[in-house]
Amino acid sequence: MTALATVWVFGDQLNRRIGALAQAKPQTHRVLLITAADKIASRPWHPARVSLYTQAIENFANELREDGFDVDHRHASSMRSGVAAHRAEFAPTRIEVTEPNSVTARALVSELGCTVTPSNQFLCHPTHFTEWAGTRKSFKMEDFYRWQRRRLDYLMDDDEPAGGEWNFDEQNRERPPKDGHDRWPVPVDVWATTRTGALKRLDFFVKRVLPMFGPHEDAMLADNWHLAHSVLSPYLNIGLLLPGEVCDRVEKEFRAGRVPINSAEGFIRQIIGWREYVWNLYWRWMPDYAAKNALGADLDLPPLFTGTDTRMRCVSGILGDLQTRGWVHHIPRLMVLGNLALIAGVNPQQFTRWMWDSFVDAAEWVMVPNVIGMSLHADGGMMASKPYAAGGAYIDRMSNYCKGCAFDREKRVGDDACPFTTLYWDFLLRHADRFVKNPRMSTQVRAAQKLKDAAAVQARAHDVLAQLANGTL
Ligand SMILES: Cc1cc2nc3c(=O)[nH]c(=O)nc-3n(C[C@H](O)[C@H](O)[C@H](O)COP(=O)(O)OP(=O)(O)OC[C@H]3O[C@@H](n4cnc5c(N)ncnc54)[C@H](O)[C@@H]3O)c2cc1C
Ligand code: SF4
Repeated sequence: MTALATVWVFGDQLNRRIGALAQAKPQTHRVLLITAADKIASRPWHPARVSLYTQAIENFANELREDGFDVDHRHASSMRSGVAAHRAEFAPTRIEVTEPNSVTARALVSELGCTVTPSNQFLCHPTHFTEWAGTRKSFKMEDFYRWQRRRLDYLMDDDEPAGGEWNFDEQNRERPPKDGHDRWPVPVDVWATTRTGALKRLDFFVKRVLPMFGPHEDAMLADNWHLAHSVLSPYLNIGLLLPGEVCDRVEKEFRAGRVPINSAEGFIRQIIGWREYVWNLYWRWMPDYAAKNALGADLDLPPLFTGTDTRMRCVSGILGDLQTRGWVHHIPRLMVLGNLALIAGVNPQQFTRWMWDSFVDAAEWVMVPNVIGMSLHADGGMMASKPYAAGGAYIDRMSNYCKGCAFDREKRVGDDACPFTTLYWDFLLRHADRFVKNPRMSTQVRAAQKLKDAAAVQARAHDVLAQLANGTL
């Protein structure tokens, strides 16, 4: 048996073009992939997530074999024991890895003496982010995004943004489309587990859905689960797709006149802006960041998140979709599930854990900043300048859930008052001291303080929280 070097590829780095694997050749390298039983058994993961990872790793191993590599795909009790068994069997000259995507995995590869190659899986490496962050006191996503646009040359006409604006949100955020039921065909309800399959999904999105992304990115429809969204996050997060190739394709469609600027810009902002921003905040602020709880939220995770039925039509529909495929788009995550946890005061660590278990595209780097920072404001405003708190009126404007719900979205008191509306006002009253000085929140806080029925709102909120806790809401 020839002594080769080994490239150890993690299950979220499944791409020939990533880091150490990009340099490897069958003549000099063997590939190690590990499916670790302790990881699978460690949490009540959504079955779609387990199946996506295990199938994608299996398929990637086979593709590498077809390319001539000797692949050791090991089913081991743990990563550590998988590496030990590989070393015992093959005595590799060294084990190379690409920088893994979590704090824990980076500690492991360092402990195991692997040779680490910098990752090119994201467009902005943390060392670049540190250069951008410099001595700034706050890291605004919009500033980072414009820096990324210029640096990566996406949607730029010389030094000016294409279309004359950096941001077309004014033209976006439309209400749900009336003909949304048949305008967006729903792709097959099974996750792709190969790069070829993921590229087909990219093609489907760009041709059929992207033109509508801008106007309808904030809308939700009870009977159209992905609406204007790409559904590409699972593939980006395990490496089947790379962010640069996705943005290149979108830019090409825009330049060919097939996609309007508000959709192209809105989408590219998600990838080179939000996604890269979240990735870099994770590396900048972990590990302390995950434990933050600035609002002192201490409600235990309500049972409706783990299976008890609820009369709230929006929550029940979204949890049903989540159960079906381990995925709902950004607005249900932020403005329904996250918003409910925020205004009810659910413990941030319990909510993060539940989200991480439940979503097919979850990973610590993306879940922690999105939940602790963006959704629950548990970081006290390090990431978002205001909490995304909203009542039933917002959900009604952006979806078709409220019609037919047992609750009345306009009411904040009474047995049929919408829990979102009640808890929204109660949240403003509870945290008035903190938010009244925030220029983006003060109008709402002052309005709450002027409510004539404030005491009744607080009494109803007390009942709603009790019903949430005992699973009868
Ligand atoms: C509470 C909460 C939890 C979230 N958890 C996850 C998660 O576990 N995994 C995950 O990939 N995304 C997460 N997101 C971000 C975002 O909701 C999903 O990336 C998006 O819904 C995935 O669907 P899509 O591919 O259709 O996205 P699109 O709406 O089509 O957007 C395109 C891409 O932009 C990227 N993107 C957009 N917004 C974000 C963001 N805030 N953070 C990171 N990437 C972003 C994603 O890669 C996404 O695929 C979360 C957001 C919130 C508010
Ligand atoms: S009325 Fe309230 S609970 Fe019912 S669907 Fe609308 S927002 Fe959700």
